Amino acid sequence: RTVYLNGQYLPEEEASVSIFDRGFVMGDAVYEVTSVLGGKILEFDGHVARLNRSLAELEIVCDISREEWLEIHRELIKRNDLDEGMIYLQVSRGNAGDRDFHYPPAGTPPTVVLYTQSKPGLADDPKAQKGITVISVPDLRWHRRDIKTVQLLYASMVKMAAEKAGKQDAWFVEDGFVTEGSSNNVYIVKDGKIITRQLSNDILHGITRASLLKYAAEAQMEIVERPFTVAEAQAADEAFFTSASAFVMPVVEVDGVALGSGKPGPVSLRLREIYLDESVKAAI
Ligand code: PLP
Repeated sequence: RTVYLNGQYLPEEEASVSIFDRGFVMGDAVYEVTSVLGGKILEFDGHVARLNRSLAELEIVCDISREEWLEIHRELIKRNDLDEGMIYLQVSRGNAGDRDFHYPPAGTPPTVVLYTQSKPGLADDPKAQKGITVISVPDLRWHRRDIKTVQLLYASMVKMAAEKAGKQDAWFVEDGFVTEGSSNNVYIVKDGKIITRQLSNDILHGITRASLLKYAAEAQMEIVERPFTVAEAQAADEAFFTSASAFVMPVVEVDGVALGSGKPGPVSLRLREIYLDESVKAAI
């Protein structure tokens, strides 16, 4: 695989980063994951906009323009002959020399890494036809979940806990309400209404979420942005989640309780179809 590191395209074996890099030592880095279908990038502008927001919130200076990001993405797709899969992008605050909590001096270059992951069949994931089972767990993350940092340890822990329980994913719960999934935004469907938590610092502002809500509104579907509880989800007709890599994924069970028919619901499946159609059409 050819990867990108700080301005260079390299074989992956030759791409290495300093042990002093703050991404490594302090988790001081932000990231994006973007899907590629048919060799084209989905939601490119949304991901670049969120990346720039995450960078600004953390005062990481990285002056790569939208056009340059696009060129890097396209070059990686070309060099790796990527048809279906993902592009991972990470920007860390860079190599700070000796360990120090304070940010390094202005002018310290960030560390920029991108690589591709091939996932043939990404859009026809059989899980979408079966649906996903989830457990709920307390949301123990920090309170700036709107910043997409690489600090994913708790997300990994809860995915492992779900696996140990024989389930596939976890939903975070705080103050009695579901915030989001371990790596996705969550929704329930009740009496035809799509219910999803409103944006705040409590959740990541999903790029897939923003587009899906736009497409759903265009299709005259009713959307309510408010928090919901696990009990409400268990009594819902359907549930689903969204993320850049899973698109729209039906959820059929929460904490051992089957939702509705126990199979992916019609609204979830329709939204998955609409999302894939529209986002592929808009891909660049
Ligand atoms: N929420 C969390 C915690 C995530 O990690 C992700 C994706 O990685 C999402 C939501 C979904 O965001 P997006 O649709 O931009 O992939």
